[in-house]
Amino acid sequence: MKEHIIKRLHSNVKTLQKLNKNKKKTGKIKYRKVLHSIPLMQYGITYKVDIEKNSIHIQGFDDFKVIGLNQIPENSEFATANLIERNGDYFLHMTAYTPKEEKILNKKAIGMDLGIKNQVSFSNGIKVQYQVPVSERIKRLYHVFSRSKYNKETKTRSKRGFKLLNKINGEFAHQNNQKKDINNKLAHYIADNYQYTAYQNDNIHSWSKFYGRRIYQTAIGEFRNTLKKKVRTPLEVGRFMKTTGVCVNCGMSMHLDLSDRVFTCPSCGYISDRDVSAADKIMKEGLSLWNIGETLAEDNASTSNMLDYIKSIPHVKASISVEARSPKQTEVAEAPSAREG
Ligand SMILES: [Zn+2]
Repeated sequence: MKEHIIKRLHSNVKTLQKLNKNKKKTGKIKYRKVLHSIPLMQYGITYKVDIEKNSIHIQGFDDFKVIGLNQIPENSEFATANLIERNGDYFLHMTAYTPKEEKILNKKAIGMDLGIKNQVSFSNGIKVQYQVPVSERIKRLYHVFSRSKYNKETKTRSKRGFKLLNKINGEFAHQNNQKKDINNKLAHYIADNYQYTAYQNDNIHSWSKFYGRRIYQTAIGEFRNTLKKKVRTPLEVGRFMKTTGVCVNCGMSMHLDLSDRVFTCPSCGYISDRDVSAADKIMKEGLSLWNIGETLAEDNASTSNMLDYIKSIPHVKASISVEARSPKQTEVAEAPSAREG
């Protein structure tokens, strides 16, 4: 194990050297008191996993009971791992290989609209809401922490205050992980099931000016970044393209207030959920910008699978918009009377 720590140090120094040569800022090399991570390079020697007993063995230490082994997919082959200490908790980050599944994607496409009220709305009618609010525990801890002793001269905090700070950081890290987990699961599902994914390059950064806390609680910007990396063919639609209040049926464009949640086309009578309609528009725009012709129609079976999957993610609410499945209502209703006259 020591050998690998030294090896890592060597390679870190080499990287720094290279960066220095390329005139990048690197800073000075300093001694460290504590090591926060230990690489475990050889599975079976430096560490071993026993999924049935929920335990891991680390060379030079004993066996440890752990939680989270159920995250490892079946038939995984273990590679390297990293033992990490964060705010007083210990984690093992493992790399595992799974046999690749071949999926037939049927050239399916999906569009999505990112927003404040519904975090993600999909062109198939699914609307997703999620938020990980600042927990009561953080608020309580912070309240106690703000009363802990702080010595202005020596710039040190009492042992108790230091411990509290560790706890608070740990809690924040936990919440950020929850958000990351939601984003990863959503993006993973889309990447696995759709060949083409269209989204708009909205200026999410500017939203946080008006909706700071809600944007923070959802990390929606991070979701888009995860998406870009994971999906097979991302189709990015420009920021200034009008997608809200445009009829996907006849192209009629109108102004919608923020409170107008349902879009009813004054020209052809097409009715749709505001955000779902925007997602639909984004998909059509993306497909036409990249000259991708007609895609197969969305089958209802995969939509309900997707809804079930999204609902199973903790902290996530999902619903299907009713309007999305009943277009051209007025046209159908008017047709008989027109014939009679
Ligand atoms: Zn219309």
